[in-house]
Amino acid sequence: MGLIENIKDVAELVQKADNIELLRKVLQLQQAALDEQEERRQLRQRIDDLEEHLRDKGRLTFHDNAYWDESDGPFCSTCFDSKRTRIRLHELSQGAYACRACNTEAWTDARRAAQESAARAQNERNQAAIKAHNARARDWLGSR
Ligand SMILES: [Zn+2]
Repeated sequence: MGLIENIKDVAELVQKADNIELLRKVLQLQQAALDEQEERRQLRQRIDDLEEHLRDKGRLTFHDNAYWDESDGPFCSTCFDSKRTRIRLHELSQGAYACRACNTEAWTDARRAAQESAARAQNERNQAAIKAHNARARDWLGSR
């Protein structure tokens, strides 16, 4: 017999004894036991959720700024790490993904490298254009 059932039995016996103050105390005890039982249930649920999260995390690997299952993914690392939920990322363009839940963007390492390479090339073109412009300006000033 559980704690709650025992308290219920005691409450019935106390009711028969016709002692209001004792009955009130027993009912308070019963409520406290119910509250403890609920808190325990919530803690058990939290432990189960965390254990499931750890098991799930063990099945995932992190690379290219996202989580990947053996045959599935990518999943949003922000959502998984903060809310413990697997949210599938949607591909925006080659190697660029976004989470529809939190708007996090994730780029694969290859996409990031290509983007950085393109930025360097653009920077070099800009520097060359500035040099050419300055050379023309010097020539123009020298001709006066
Ligand atoms: Zn997300």
